[in-house]
Amino acid sequence: MAYLDHNATSPLRPEARTAIERAFAVQGNPSSVHALGRAARALVEEAREDIARLANARAEDVVFTSCGTEANALGLRGAIQGAADTGAPIERVYASAIEHDSILGTVSAIADRATGIQAAIIPVTEGGVVDPDALREMLLGSGARALIAVMAANNETGVVQPLADISRLVRDAGGLLLVDAVQACGRMAMDFSALDADYLTISAHKLAGPQGVGALIVKDGAPFAAQVHGGGQEKGRRAGTENVIGIAGFGAAARACGNDNSTRIAGLRDRFELGLRERFPDVIVFGENAPRLANTSNFALPGIAAETALIALDLDGVMVSSGAACSSGKVKPSHVLAAMSVPASVAMCALRVSLGWNSSEGDIEAALLALEKLGARIAARKAA
Ligand code: PLP
Repeated sequence: MAYLDHNATSPLRPEARTAIERAFAVQGNPSSVHALGRAARALVEEAREDIARLANARAEDVVFTSCGTEANALGLRGAIQGAADTGAPIERVYASAIEHDSILGTVSAIADRATGIQAAIIPVTEGGVVDPDALREMLLGSGARALIAVMAANNETGVVQPLADISRLVRDAGGLLLVDAVQACGRMAMDFSALDADYLTISAHKLAGPQGVGALIVKDGAPFAAQVHGGGQEKGRRAGTENVIGIAGFGAAARACGNDNSTRIAGLRDRFELGLRERFPDVIVFGENAPRLANTSNFALPGIAAETALIALDLDGVMVSSGAACSSGKVKPSHVLAAMSVPASVAMCALRVSLGWNSSEGDIEAALLALEKLGARIAARKAA
């Protein structure tokens, strides 16, 4: 088995597994004042410190959520309501064209609902980089108070976004910035304090923690209003009894991912792309000239449909992902590649290989061999 789909989910690290097993023994509610409650509280607060350290943020600004999707929705909705409550309402929401559906879906739901808030999409270059000049014009053109969502690194291409430029523009325009760092956090240095963003989101399972737990970091003083009310957990910012077991695993994963060797991972990714080029001279690697996460390779082998390749690779024990999204039985080309002006016929051939803490040279060789076999089979069929 070669698992090369870490951007979908990175398998649980041993450190996270151990922390989860230990947390099972602590069966108190973190809000209870007795000993078991205090023990559970200690696990949650220790993890909060670990996550804050990973993103160079303040622990008190970390709000635990049920996943990255919820963190994004809570950040956007919480910012909008919080800004309205302070008398400086958000009038426009701008999201980059390559944001995850959790951002794009929330933005369109907000704009759809007669809120008076208008939404617009920030274009990207053909290399998959959000275009700061386009954002500058959008911000200057409208004069409205804006909330901007730009991800730190893209989940399909791995392309790292120019956040320093973007945060400067947003600040100059008096707007608010939400950064989806779900793919970036743990895979590249994230410095929330230096970034000058207002909100940042993380998901545990992308850094080899458990699924079903995430975090929203809200900068001290940034507008924010809770969207779920109840027991006042997370300092009133997100009610609901904490997922202590998941949070303990999240904290341990955040601590451990500092030890990942990104040079080793980049070496494996480069070895993979070199092997691809040797076997398939017409391969297209998306975003190859932009700064990319060390672990991600998104490519197309023209003439080999991603659906066919996924099945063939799976039969050979190689697990990758396609750039195409499947909903209601219809496969559509990825919105990320479409935003990069990749023709649909090429986008339908896009495959994503994403590496992580347990990826090995053997995985790369297995993937290359399986692709080579598939290429030979398709060439033979065409020749027949
Ligand atoms: N944001 C990005 C960039 C992602 O890649 C994902 C998941 O793929 C999410 C958000 C959603 O995270 P979760 O799966 O924890 O809901």
